[in-house]
Amino acid sequence: MEKAQSQDVAMASSDALTLSESWGRIRDRLKGEVGDVEYRMWIQQIVLGPLDEDEIILYLPERFLRDWVRAQYGERLQSLWQQESSLVHRVELQVRKTSPAESSSNTNTHAETSAAQSGIAAIAREDAAALDQQATGGAPSGEVRNDLAVPLDKRFTFDSFVVGKPNEFAYACARRVAERPASPGFNPLFLYGGVGLGKTHLMHAIGSELITRGNVSVAYMSAEKFMYRFIASMQAKSQMEFKEQLRSVDVLMIDDLQFLIGKNSTQEEFFHTFNALVDAGRQIIVSADKSPSDLSGLEDRLRTRLGCGMVADIHATTFELRISILEAKARASGTPVPAKVLEYLAHKITTNVRELEGALNRLIAHADLVGRPVTLESTQDVLKDMLKAHERRVTIDEIQRKVAEHWNIRLTDMSSARRARAVARPRQVAMYLAKHLTSRSLPEIGRKFGNRDHTTVMHAVTRVTELMEQDPSFAESVELLKRMLES
Ligand code: ADP
Ligand code: MG
Repeated sequence: MEKAQSQDVAMASSDALTLSESWGRIRDRLKGEVGDVEYRMWIQQIVLGPLDEDEIILYLPERFLRDWVRAQYGERLQSLWQQESSLVHRVELQVRKTSPAESSSNTNTHAETSAAQSGIAAIAREDAAALDQQATGGAPSGEVRNDLAVPLDKRFTFDSFVVGKPNEFAYACARRVAERPASPGFNPLFLYGGVGLGKTHLMHAIGSELITRGNVSVAYMSAEKFMYRFIASMQAKSQMEFKEQLRSVDVLMIDDLQFLIGKNSTQEEFFHTFNALVDAGRQIIVSADKSPSDLSGLEDRLRTRLGCGMVADIHATTFELRISILEAKARASGTPVPAKVLEYLAHKITTNVRELEGALNRLIAHADLVGRPVTLESTQDVLKDMLKAHERRVTIDEIQRKVAEHWNIRLTDMSSARRARAVARPRQVAMYLAKHLTSRSLPEIGRKFGNRDHTTVMHAVTRVTELMEQDPSFAESVELLKRMLES
């Protein structure tokens, strides 16, 4: 018994040793990955805690640090720990003030520890130095009053934004605000929509337009950056400066506001900045992935204020808009891309414009590199892996349902023995679609259609193909069904 216990103790202390060695290696890895500045600011603040069953506890001295590290590095930390140690399955980040003794046992040398403690202040000083340099480097005055502004992406202009039904309202609002900032009814401008639909593009376009018109100071930053700045200013005890900088701009744009959900002190700061600016007749522009009323987790008073100006949503793209965007981008690239290829892409990649653009760029780069024109074949080949990810898994049940609905027949007729044309033809179409949209074999498909033979399925596929060639309106119906099932 006693022996077993002492073994346990020995084992526990050797585990602790291995854990701290693992932690050292993980920190080195992260240092390489995130760079010195980020490392000092965040990772170095982490103190290794005990192993609780399969969960390793890591401590951070403040809640906002914990939240930040969790949001930014949580997954990475977990996967690095899992790679390092078979004992660790999960990482738990907790808030705890750490004593100097603990920090030094955290495989930190003393020099490192004190560097960690002064790390944030040091970074704030680095920022300040960069700021000075910018000023002496002669940033055109009036444009950017301070380093609050991320340089705007020159490609994101109103001219390069393709307008269609889903985004015309948001576009019109953006133009209007760029022409007459802070006019009643348009302050704040709240743009929302899914990922990759052009929110950032429109914000940059507003910024560039305003700067071209001159004499306006514009600050653009992501909500994440806002929080980072805010925290850094708190640590460096320079909140007042930060507040003053923010409150001195004419136009403040905050991108991806949903990031502030759950980050209460940053939200509060933003709320005050927001009020101060609006009261002073300055323009606020905000983007998010949802409408103000759907951003649950934001404080009510902030949501209310956000909804007080103009709220404009960008809807999911339509096929037509995707084609127009692809045409515009292909034209701008100077490389000829056949219309068939553009149509193919617009059918296949329906989620967001960024991916659509990425696919087209890849095709063009490939064509330039190998010195051959873009064709439908080369497209399918070059984008194989990308397109696979977009293939939605359509089930045979879904196909049967949609097809039955389309031709107004009963779902049970998909597997019934009835051979009347009005029933048999839709059934054949469903088989054809099952062959093209799923990876099921012919016998498997046959079984789903009332235990029919695989030759029946084969016949259906051939027959539908022929009919599509002969009858354009039939072909159109089948294509339509296919598109609906794929999207
Ligand atoms: P979001 O901020 O909504 O996630 P972005 O503004 O970053 O999306 O847009 C993603 C990419 O798609 C950018 O390269 C942008 O230029 C492009 N894009 C989006 N919508 C359009 C559009 N209507 N016309 C031209 N390009 C667009
Ligand atoms: Mg964006």
